[in-house]
Amino acid sequence: MFILPDLPYASGALAPVISEATLLTHHGKHHARYVESTNALLANGDASPATLEDVVRRAARGDTSLFNNAAQAWNHAFFWRCMRPGGAPVPDALAAAVALAFGDQAGLRSEFLAKGAAHFGSGWLWLVARGAVLSVISTHDAGSPLVDPGLTPLLVCDLWEHAYYLDHRNDRTGFLIAWWDQLVDWSFVGAQLDAAIADEAGWRYPEAVA
Ligand code: MN
Repeated sequence: MFILPDLPYASGALAPVISEATLLTHHGKHHARYVESTNALLANGDASPATLEDVVRRAARGDTSLFNNAAQAWNHAFFWRCMRPGGAPVPDALAAAVALAFGDQAGLRSEFLAKGAAHFGSGWLWLVARGAVLSVISTHDAGSPLVDPGLTPLLVCDLWEHAYYLDHRNDRTGFLIAWWDQLVDWSFVGAQLDAAIADEAGWRYPEAVA
C-alpha cells in the first residue's frame, strides 16, 4: 500500500498564501482520501505495483477510477514538494532554459498566470520539460504529464478550488500570483530539469510498503 507522505514543512509555514486551515484539510483530508482510495482499488485487483508512477501510467490505459485517485495522490505529493516557505532563487541552468522558451522569468510568469486564468474548471497547471525544452500546460481533473513518457514535470500548481477558496475565494489569479511570487521552490524545479536533461526519472512518490 502507498502512504500519505508528510508535508515537507510545518502546516502553517505557507501562510498567508496558503493558510494552515487550508493545508491541514487539503493534505489531511483531500490528499489522504486519494491515497486511501488508490489503496482500496489496488486491494481489489491482482497487481501489487511498487511505484505509484506505474499505477498512474497503467491505469491511464482504461481504469478511470484508479487513474483519478492514483494521479491525484501523485499530483498532490508533487505539489507539496514544489513549494518552500519563502521560495528559492532560480538556478542558472533553469534560467537559461526559461530564457530560451519564454524570453525570461517574467515571460514564464506571464504564461503561467495566463494559462491558469484560462483553465476552465478543476485541474493542474504545470511547467514541463521535454529534454531541455520547457512548456506550460494545464490538465483537467486528475490529468498527469506522467502519461506522456517524454515529459518530465518540473512544477505544478493545484487549480482545484479546494486549493485556494478558503484563502482567496474566487480569485484564482490572486492566488497564483502570491503562490508564484512567494512559495515556489525553484531549486526543486531546477533539479527536475537536471533530471529531464539527463533522461532520469526525477522526483518519485515513496514506494509502496507491505
Ligand atoms: Mn488538491
